[in-house]
Amino acid sequence: MQVDKKDIRILSKDELREFFVSLGEKAFRGNQVYEWLWKKSVYSFEDMTNLSQDLRHLLSAHFVINHIEVDQMQRSEDGTIKNAVRLHDGLVVESVLIPTENRTTACVSSQVGCSLDCKFCATARLKRMRNLNPDEIYDQVAALNKESRLYFNRPLSNIVFMGMGEPLMNYKNLVKAVEKISSPEGLGISPKRITVSTSGVPKMIRQLAEEGLGVKLAVSLHSAIDSTRTRIMPFNEKLNLKELRSSLEFWYSKTKSRITYEYVVWEGINDKGKDIEALIHFCRFAPAKVNLIEYNPIDEGGFKQASPQVVRQYVNALESAGITVTIRRSRGQDIDAACGQLANKAQRD
Ligand code: SAH
Repeated sequence: MQVDKKDIRILSKDELREFFVSLGEKAFRGNQVYEWLWKKSVYSFEDMTNLSQDLRHLLSAHFVINHIEVDQMQRSEDGTIKNAVRLHDGLVVESVLIPTENRTTACVSSQVGCSLDCKFCATARLKRMRNLNPDEIYDQVAALNKESRLYFNRPLSNIVFMGMGEPLMNYKNLVKAVEKISSPEGLGISPKRITVSTSGVPKMIRQLAEEGLGVKLAVSLHSAIDSTRTRIMPFNEKLNLKELRSSLEFWYSKTKSRITYEYVVWEGINDKGKDIEALIHFCRFAPAKVNLIEYNPIDEGGFKQASPQVVRQYVNALESAGITVTIRRSRGQDIDAACGQLANKAQRD
């Protein structure tokens, strides 16, 4: 009879040590295996070369290593790399590596699909199938880290949770993944270099503030006027701007960490003076940075990026109000790797 083997990566380091002791082996073997599994990210017991053949066989008799597989890697003309990542149950998510002169940023997914309904986002067209587990989040980062070393001769400098899904709706797994990514026994990437991007889930922003992880927060605002925001992000009807703002005040009081706002300016939606005033009014209570993101069209009609003149008006007004503002150039458009384009066409069609 075939017995279902357990995923070894569910075990803590202590549990691995205990496993070896229970078989009359030395406890430190557990440390070695733990290092192979996390720091070195190997996906086969065969690769654990400081263990004897017998021990490797013993492990494979008891356990499996459930891991991601990079199914397809695409490179954009601008150097951006997109991985289609196959999970152990066959579902696929996408993650992206974005090189600039000084940085290499990993953009990772937190869910398969998304339960939110932002009208301008391709991922929203996929229904949410499931949350990613902590290992699946970790593996995406580890895979991009390897690619970063291979193609750009440097490790990842930053991680953003701006791939598929809403990270704060997969809260526990997000936290576990961040802890492992930042641990010296994992990838050792400082939480200061990790940004959690949320469409704005007030209750979970408060929880993240209490958690004390040390990560940065980005909020996809897109409008600071409730009626407009609800039109483009319908969940705003319940999780409205007042609630969001109060959770952000709490975030700042706890963390003293600057908040980034992501914002696309669309023609006929949020391109008026009143939109700019509302944005300034909304975010000036604490140190803030506004990232004006270029719109990446996802289908025919509906949304159109506002003109450079309007974007300039935003920049001027924000700067006059003492708010840092950057215009984020779109990357990886030719391979559908840009913000809001992650939809994993194979899965959708
Ligand atoms: N759910 C999280 C993270 C995923 S989206 C969030 O909402 O923040 C990552 C960023 O891409 C968000 O700021 C989102 O608003 C933005 N985005 C979504 N669709 C886009 C599109 N078509 N063009 C440009 N940005 C888009």
